[in-house]
Amino acid sequence: MGKVTGFLEIDRRDRRYAPASDRIRHYREFVIPLSEEATKDQAARCMNCGIPYCHTGCPVNNQIPDWNDLVYRSDWEEASRNLHSTNNFPEFTGRVCPAPCEASCTLNLNDNPVTIKTIECAIVDRAFANGWVAPEIASVKTGKKVAVVGSGPAGLAAAQQLARAGHEAHVFEKNAKPGGLLRYGIPDFKMEKHLIDRRIDQMRAEGVSFYGSVNVGVDLDAKTLLDDFDAVVLCGGAERPRDLPIEGRTLAGVHFAMEFLPQQNRRVGKEPIHSNEPILAGAKHVVVIGGGDTGSDCIGTSIRQGALSVTQLEIMPQPPEKENKLLTWPNWPLKLRTSSSQEEGAKRDFSVLTKAFRGKDGAVKKILCVRLDDKLKEIPGSDFELKADLVLLAMGFVSPVQEGLLQSLGVAFDARGNVAADQVNYATSVPKVFACGDMRRGQSLVVWAIREGRQAARAVDAFLMGSSLLPR
Ligand SMILES: Cc1cc2nc3c(=O)[nH]c(=O)nc-3n(C[C@H](O)[C@H](O)[C@H](O)COP(=O)(O)OP(=O)(O)OC[C@H]3O[C@@H](n4cnc5c(N)ncnc54)[C@H](O)[C@@H]3O)c2cc1C
Ligand code: SF4
Repeated sequence: MGKVTGFLEIDRRDRRYAPASDRIRHYREFVIPLSEEATKDQAARCMNCGIPYCHTGCPVNNQIPDWNDLVYRSDWEEASRNLHSTNNFPEFTGRVCPAPCEASCTLNLNDNPVTIKTIECAIVDRAFANGWVAPEIASVKTGKKVAVVGSGPAGLAAAQQLARAGHEAHVFEKNAKPGGLLRYGIPDFKMEKHLIDRRIDQMRAEGVSFYGSVNVGVDLDAKTLLDDFDAVVLCGGAERPRDLPIEGRTLAGVHFAMEFLPQQNRRVGKEPIHSNEPILAGAKHVVVIGGGDTGSDCIGTSIRQGALSVTQLEIMPQPPEKENKLLTWPNWPLKLRTSSSQEEGAKRDFSVLTKAFRGKDGAVKKILCVRLDDKLKEIPGSDFELKADLVLLAMGFVSPVQEGLLQSLGVAFDARGNVAADQVNYATSVPKVFACGDMRRGQSLVVWAIREGRQAARAVDAFLMGSSLLPR
């Protein structure tokens, strides 16, 4: 373990943010890394518990106490090797993971958890800076060809693992560039996109082929994949957004979050926005409906675009400020969290139901709301109005898009409309077709997508070769 008495001597210290007044002037990342010494101090807080609950809190089962110890002893290169043995892309999770591992940390029971995510990010950033992250080229090729549809974290992890097992991995992506929601959903201020390009370079060197701007099922007959490849892995994400079909929904200025966010990411990335209708928040009163990550990203983007005001509405009641750790640990607790974007100046309102959008000359001008009680029943007489020139619907995603790719392949769906496949074989109802990530599990997290991509690659390898040495 790191320092035996580290957790008694050293307080938790985490990365800080640049001041909001500075960071809202640009779209770059604004998290300030800890110094090397401070990171080692934080790693020294790890108690190397007999049962490391953080292992199971982390969906890719990162061996957290091992790399904490290596960091404490300044063996950063070995720490990077260890970290990469369970996580293909720690530079993504080190920036955008909500860190369920920290909720599971034993120190979190009666103290503050180890800054696991910060240490993970420091290890991988240092590894890239020192040239320790090199292509891992398979020494033996199997001659098998696998098509991966979708290049989000699930598709990228699956393709990288398959290439390392010696298979030809071919990734088809409907957007111009690979990355999925990492590139077109998550804003640059949370994760800059050169980090994706760097990994894609590594993957190309490992033999992965990428085909951009190919919407399988539309531009390319999905069934040709079955003829041309030994296996097909579906990693198309959960792209069907939850709608709010109330009066005024068709007014101009009411948009899904994923109509708004990709435009800004494309502007930053100097790509065409692919729309005749630029959606911009500048000089507008913006209302974001929905309280999750996507809603936060809409807030941060609207503030950077120069919104006059940003209000975020949540239908659920405000959660407690603090959890009862003895009841919730080691699970992820429900509690009030404030994102960096919310900190930048959004007004949040809970227990609010949106009843109607009202407009003038075809464009939204205000929304009508009512307050709810703790049983989600409307409180009589609590109706109110909010100014709204732009409304962004960020209420989650119900399932993958079934038309096109999935219907033409004829895969079966589960009760929620996701592609049906279990978490061992990842096999769909169609022979040699596999599914993983949000397309299989429904909307989730980057770290879960990486886990599923890795595990699906193992299942495909075992299907093709009879057994697999890839980790699960
Ligand atoms: C705005 C937003 C912010 C988020 N923020 C966070 C966060 O901070 N932290 C976190 O952990 N999670 C976050 N998430 C969730 C996370 O991004 C997803 O869970 C994760 O990206 C899912 O990975 P995936 O590979 O399964 O799918 P995706 O990332 O959705 O990738 C699917 C890819 O498949 C492509 N595709 C789909 N159909 C086809 C087809 N027919 N042919 C070719 N290509 C196709 C899509 O274009 C896309 O590139 C966020 C989600 C959103 C929407
Ligand atoms: S991937 Fe997420 S859960 Fe796993 S160690 Fe990193 S921050 Fe924690």
